[in-house]
Amino acid sequence: MSSYAPPVQRLVTELSKLPGIGSRTAQRLAFHILRSSSEDAVALAESIREVKEKIGFCEVCFNLTDEVRCRICQDTRRDHGLICVVEEPSDVIPMERTHEYSGVYHVLGGALSPIDGIDPEDLKIAELLARAVPVEGQPGQAPAVREVVLATNPATTGESTALHIAEELRVRAPTLTVTRLASGLPVGSDLEYADEVTLGKAFAGRRAV
Ligand SMILES: [Zn+2]
Repeated sequence: MSSYAPPVQRLVTELSKLPGIGSRTAQRLAFHILRSSSEDAVALAESIREVKEKIGFCEVCFNLTDEVRCRICQDTRRDHGLICVVEEPSDVIPMERTHEYSGVYHVLGGALSPIDGIDPEDLKIAELLARAVPVEGQPGQAPAVREVVLATNPATTGESTALHIAEELRVRAPTLTVTRLASGLPVGSDLEYADEVTLGKAFAGRRAV
């Protein structure tokens, strides 16, 4: 391993930090990059630099965006009274693919996991409460939120996150409808890997919590 020239070793080291990439795969990718044209290699490096420079979080829903607000939040045809709460930006894509959903999103940035030190303050939960709970005597410009759909992953951490948020909402906004996706999604799996038919059914069959 260490017999590589330092620049090659550096590339292997960086690639092996990617999820699912072991040292063998990292070496294979590094040699692929070494064999490829300069244009392709620079395009890869530039695309990584560009996403880090240009992509940030939507100020409303914390989805990824290259603007202040994401395209979904900017879309006036969408139902802004319906908020679907997901763990990661990657969970928005499968929900969009179902074509069942026309509301907006709220991306938490993870799920509660006390073992890993992930507490409510580490997620965008306060921001969700601020969006969903009407402030008395201060009618906001945004239409009132009618329903919050909790679409966290059907894993232990996702379930406890959904319960926590449901409780927080119940205390603050008793009249708000809070729902959870119907069961039927494979337990322990990520929303990301659910097919759109299953996810669409889970959405259509959502139940009050
Ligand atoms: Zn947004």
